Amino acid sequence: MSNSNRILIVDDDPMNCELLEMWLASAGFADVDSVYSGSEALLHVKDSPPDLILLDVRMPEMDGLEVCRRLKADATTLFIPIILITGHNTHQDRLNGLRAGANDFVARSVDEAELLARVNVLLENKRLYDELRATMRERIEFISQISHELRTPLFAIHGLTEMLLDGEVTQPDEVRNYLQTIYDQSGHLSRLVDDLLDLSRFERGAQTLKYETLALGPFLDDTVALMQPLAHARNIELRLLAVPRQLLVSVDEGRLRQVFINLLNNALRYNDEGGWVEIAVQSESNAVQISVRDGGWGIGTLDMPHIFRRFYRGALAQQRKSGAGGAGLGLALASEIIRAHGGTLTAQSEGVAGRGSTFVVTLPRTVT
Ligand code: ADP
Repeated sequence: MSNSNRILIVDDDPMNCELLEMWLASAGFADVDSVYSGSEALLHVKDSPPDLILLDVRMPEMDGLEVCRRLKADATTLFIPIILITGHNTHQDRLNGLRAGANDFVARSVDEAELLARVNVLLENKRLYDELRATMRERIEFISQISHELRTPLFAIHGLTEMLLDGEVTQPDEVRNYLQTIYDQSGHLSRLVDDLLDLSRFERGAQTLKYETLALGPFLDDTVALMQPLAHARNIELRLLAVPRQLLVSVDEGRLRQVFINLLNNALRYNDEGGWVEIAVQSESNAVQISVRDGGWGIGTLDMPHIFRRFYRGALAQQRKSGAGGAGLGLALASEIIRAHGGTLTAQSEGVAGRGSTFVVTLPRTVT
């Protein structure tokens, strides 16, 4: 199997490089480069950082220890694991290597199996480390997004309350308008916080579902009835195609309702007046597929890979908000809820306005 990790070999003797390249190639490493001096190595690492470096200690001009020291002193290359190849791997060799910051050492006489085993251990550590760094970055970004989302309604509530307290607004109609905005904005804040708490519980696996056996037909009838007022208000035809009778699923009803309200809400909002939304159910031997299809604005190819990410709002959604704009948490939460049920939530769209989008919820079927 091909291994996509990038490995850099640094050795002034091309024969040594060739041998290592051969071993790595036979173990499936497809991205291996060799350079023949310390200064070339530093340039190469800057241009295309590898996932691991095999570094000969004894080289003319700049030796391996110096290369190692320089890479470990630079915050951008510090995390690339380095295996030093020493002459005899003596106590003094290892000590020098450790002081230069090397992650591991092998003697020039090392055999293929041991070298590959050491390479794999360090690559696995690097993978875990990269994952951790990506998670940290995501968390930091997440905190700044939350702060931004909370700030806008808080700012409005604070500003309007201040104006009311200062007596700047006295006309009863105006006072009422201000109070209404404060009420709406605080409702928005509270929904946002609820969604965030829900999302974090699902992501941590700390949310328990209250499973019950549910007849899908009546459940979808009720959900559609709940959404009809919004459909009427936007002059959109919302229809539910016939659901096979006695189609049962084992689900948390409240949570499943939350998912469909979100999907329908989106289908109705990202749609023009006079449009349509259709729910269809398909049952297979061990799964049920419920699709929510709309003939609305569709999802652009640039947006598609991101729509399930927290706080992600598509380009069109940001430009042409119809009705209250969401915070971009709905689909993230919906997909976590469906995943907790052992199902999947997927999206399809050609990205062409008028051809709309389809969201498909697949749930395990309860066999009767
Ligand atoms: P929100 O609706 O609050 O922006 P969601 O997480 O529910 O957040 O949706 C994320 C994005 O996915 C939306 O901003 C929109 O760009 C896109 N989207 C979701 N559903 C639809 C749909 N039915 N039609 C077109 N775009 C959609």
